[in-house]
Amino acid sequence: MLALNESQQRLVISETEKQIQKASVILDKPFKMIPVEFDLRGHTIGMYKVSKNKRVIRYNAQIFAKYFEQNLRDTVPHEVAHYIVDMQYGRKNIRPHGTQWRQLMEQLGAKPERTANYDLTGVPKRRYTTVAYQCGCQQHHLGIRRHNKLVKQQVRYFCRRCGDSLSAL
Ligand SMILES: [Zn+2]
Ligand SMILES: [Zn+2]
Repeated sequence: MLALNESQQRLVISETEKQIQKASVILDKPFKMIPVEFDLRGHTIGMYKVSKNKRVIRYNAQIFAKYFEQNLRDTVPHEVAHYIVDMQYGRKNIRPHGTQWRQLMEQLGAKPERTANYDLTGVPKRRYTTVAYQCGCQQHHLGIRRHNKLVKQQVRYFCRRCGDSLSAL
């Protein structure tokens, strides 16, 4: 399995910080460095994520390891730009790869492309485990975490269409 060594990880983190500082200068507003993680799997290269009030940029170490220079040049500003436009405009008010994001990408000197075209042969696709459930009208597939919660009876889930609670198939 491909992996990033420690010095490569440090380089990715410092490049992320550099792009955030660059955006701070461009927009004349200080943006904080946010945590960087290398835990993305499958064929997703990068991700800017907000949960509760925690912001984080996640990279896929395997794909970075395979195309290090390209990802440093393309993926880092791509994810940084998602973070910055979120702080600037609020991500609920704009399209993820809309005008504001594209404009900032250009100002950062990066190509405003939604997806990269890498040959990902040898990088395993992530498998999502789901469990089938039934309501009154259709079949549902719950992710493993929601399934576990339901089994432990911490929650019940209801179909949005018919209002029935879901039961295992
Ligand atoms: Zn994106
Ligand atoms: Zn239903």
